[in-house]
Amino acid sequence: MARLLLRNIHTLVTMVDGEEPLHGVDLLAVDGKVGEIGRDLRPAPGDDLRVLDGSWRVVYPGFVNTHHHLYQTLTRNIPRVHSVKLFDWLVNLYEVWRELTPEAVEISTKVGIGELLLSGCTTTSDHLYLVPTGMERELHDVEIDTALAMGVRFHPSRGSMSRGRSCGGLPPDDVVQTPDEIMRDSERLIAKYHDPAPFAMCRIVLAPCSPFSVTTDLLEETARLARSKGVFLHTHLAETLDEETFCHEAHGLRPLAYMEKAGWVGPDVWFAHGVWFNDDEIRWLAETGTGVAHCPGSNLRLGSGIARVPRLLRAGVRVGLGVDGSASNDSSNFVREMQVALLVHRVGTGVEAMPPRDVLAMATVGGASLLGRPEIGRLRPGGAADMAVFRLDRIDYAGAMRDPASAILFCGAGPRADATIVAGQVLVENGRLVGHDEEAIFHKANETAEAMLRRAEEKLGVSYG
Ligand SMILES: [Zn+2]
Repeated sequence: MARLLLRNIHTLVTMVDGEEPLHGVDLLAVDGKVGEIGRDLRPAPGDDLRVLDGSWRVVYPGFVNTHHHLYQTLTRNIPRVHSVKLFDWLVNLYEVWRELTPEAVEISTKVGIGELLLSGCTTTSDHLYLVPTGMERELHDVEIDTALAMGVRFHPSRGSMSRGRSCGGLPPDDVVQTPDEIMRDSERLIAKYHDPAPFAMCRIVLAPCSPFSVTTDLLEETARLARSKGVFLHTHLAETLDEETFCHEAHGLRPLAYMEKAGWVGPDVWFAHGVWFNDDEIRWLAETGTGVAHCPGSNLRLGSGIARVPRLLRAGVRVGLGVDGSASNDSSNFVREMQVALLVHRVGTGVEAMPPRDVLAMATVGGASLLGRPEIGRLRPGGAADMAVFRLDRIDYAGAMRDPASAILFCGAGPRADATIVAGQVLVENGRLVGHDEEAIFHKANETAEAMLRRAEEKLGVSYG
């Protein structure tokens, strides 16, 4: 039996409905689950008991990231795409991403998961949709094995692209696959990794990339396979007006209507972005229980627009937060994403549009709901012992203690977690990753990124800056 006691927690944000933050309590985790929350808990001493100091710390349910592309951590801050919109950004970066190798996937996963853990994220999805020719049977396995070894709760996607340039799509032909190849590999990954049990560490998601990079057949077949296996569906949707134009020209439909025709609505579906949903579509999302991953940093970075999240929430649509690919955001810091979500809707919608409680809800219970995980996102006995712990006794929060639960949202800049705990395991301690050398990860990632960029530059005869 492994036990973890957080003693004398300054502020415990449980996210249990109707419950205010608790002060001066202890939390005891037993075998990866929350056992007890209360004052002056006195568990029997023993070698299996670990104690962490909760004084001057705020503890949240571990944050849930609902949209990411870990491999993109290798292509951040590239001058050539500093200031271009999504389609140009993609067309330029496909040329670098086609150089992706298993080693590149491994190191980029370490970077992205490391950043997420360091910002209090304990569960993340990922969307790896680009499979260069020759890499078919390796990339997803390497990504999943690496992430699970780091201890995060993981919802990796078997992403896919099947509409290359020769068929009117955006990506080059050598990074797309046939629907047959994609379906076979999806089944293989589900059989190998998917765990439907509560408290699972790994659940597979099926995720064709976007309406402009896959064929309608693939969307339909993917939905059929997902439902026959009980796995969730995810893709990008309504991210830009260019996408809307593409769907009109290619299919005569708006993006959501096109997806609905292919069977892509329901409580087992969540879309990344949803910037351009209209009122009727928002009602339809609510009625069908279809979810949205809000990625404000990416939407601002690429100038895509501001998703109407206050409206989505009022309509009853389930919404989570996503850092999106680190190349569009150019960060995987989850708290920074929460800070952006807090601020961006106050311009345009109004200053009351996004209270801190709504941001915390999207980051925890909202994300948990999108992924179909009622056991995470709240701290209560019997739930998962997944926690994000932040120090409050820092200069960033001096004078901000009237509402300690909101301090990390309003003050400071994307702070590091003091501790991040997944299933009772301490993966970040004193603001550092446990068992991983950040400098070594930095240098390996830099070398790998540089090699990919150089190969792309040599082939194309252009500079990425
Ligand atoms: Zn994305």
